[in-house]
Amino acid sequence: SMALEGGDTIFGKIIRGEIPADFAYQDDKCVAFHDINPQAPVHFLVVPKKPIPQLSKAEDSDEELLGHLLFIAQKVAKDLGLNNGYRVVINDGLHGGQEVFHLHVHVLGGRQMIWPPG
Ligand code: 5GP
Repeated sequence: SMALEGGDTIFGKIIRGEIPADFAYQDDKCVAFHDINPQAPVHFLVVPKKPIPQLSKAEDSDEELLGHLLFIAQKVAKDLGLNNGYRVVINDGLHGGQEVFHLHVHVLGGRQMIWPPG
């Protein structure tokens, strides 16, 4: 169904191939593509094909998928040559600054990051 293939956000359209993206990885459970407005020399997103709207809406049955997203984040970071570290971020909801309500893991690298991000 459409819902299982990505829902109604812009990321659903990317997952379904309806709009283009610069993909770095895909498998049966997730995709990774470069952010259209990168905040670092390397900035990609790992996105589950299942349209979980945000981290805080994950269900018990999503536990393994959440682990998979993190595993793929580090795999793609390695593939893209981020050998000096990187930052992994999930923005959740209003106070997290989330803009696209389809769960995604940000990976930012290629420059020194600062903490806290503000
Ligand atoms: P959020 O604030 O929801 O965690 O982050 C959403 C991210 O998605 C932002 O970094 C934004 O630049 C990125 N983004 C939004 N629309 C598109 C798009 O159409 N294509 C790509 N590749 N990235 C997008």
